[in-house]
Amino acid sequence: MTGRTAADLRVQRFASPNPGSVNAYWLHAPQGLILIDTLRSPADARKALARVRDTGQPVVAILLTHVHPDHVGGAGLFHRAFPQAPIYASEASAKAMRQDSRGLYALTRSLPGSDFPKKLTYPTKIFRAGTTLRIAGLTIRTAEFPGGESDAATVYHEPRSRSLFVGDLLGNRVTPALIEGNSCGWLSQLERLRTSSLATGRAYPGHGAPAPARGLITWQQTYLKRFRKLVKPAVAENSPAGPRVTGAERRTIIAATKRAYPGHPLVASLPTLMEENVKAVAAEIASTDPAKLPRICR
Ligand SMILES: [Zn+2]
Repeated sequence: MTGRTAADLRVQRFASPNPGSVNAYWLHAPQGLILIDTLRSPADARKALARVRDTGQPVVAILLTHVHPDHVGGAGLFHRAFPQAPIYASEASAKAMRQDSRGLYALTRSLPGSDFPKKLTYPTKIFRAGTTLRIAGLTIRTAEFPGGESDAATVYHEPRSRSLFVGDLLGNRVTPALIEGNSCGWLSQLERLRTSSLATGRAYPGHGAPAPARGLITWQQTYLKRFRKLVKPAVAENSPAGPRVTGAERRTIIAATKRAYPGHPLVASLPTLMEENVKAVAAEIASTDPAKLPRICR
């Protein structure tokens, strides 16, 4: 007997429009729909909800991959539409959402034209790292990948179809957010994913189209390595302003990134995302002892 293939697990995707296009997915479980992530705003969530309603099936659970604003802003709207559906998040994600230590929610609310909710809708079912969930007749495995793209991150894995809901651990041809200044941590977590059995699955990323995980891991690792390599000379002691990045250096880094990745949309609604990425990764590289870096980050 062979296991089901990815094609046997029906997964639908809603991608909000650019700038800052973000995905929500719903998978058709035997006993209803499982929604993964909730988009940035109630307006986007409302459009996705109309598509969900077209299925004639109720959402019976909501899973959060991580708690960046663009993945939790629509949670309230979905929660009101399906109040019986628990909102799942890992302990680390739930804590990160309560703390918002980087002030990302306030930042998102302050952006022009933002309709990010004033009041957040928090997870109602909090699970420990590595928990296997049984939801709506499906087994969903979870794995934590902390300290990378986001401080806390969960990959949800449906083992029979080998479907991976990876949040922003992987993107598909998009300009990532590096504003947490943890590009080396992210590379290390990608290496962990690459060398795990999960790498043989199909990945459903937070931004961009679904694709085989292995290809997306290579793509994401290459982007991060290349970006670090572009930033590194600008923070060198012997560069024009030493470890401080000058405006000219920043423009050079951004131009080179755009040449290597033309037309790759920003994952965030923050128009200055690339400038912020340079700033964060420059600070990260300047503050780490190169001798202590894992091989993947050198
Ligand atoms: Zn995102």
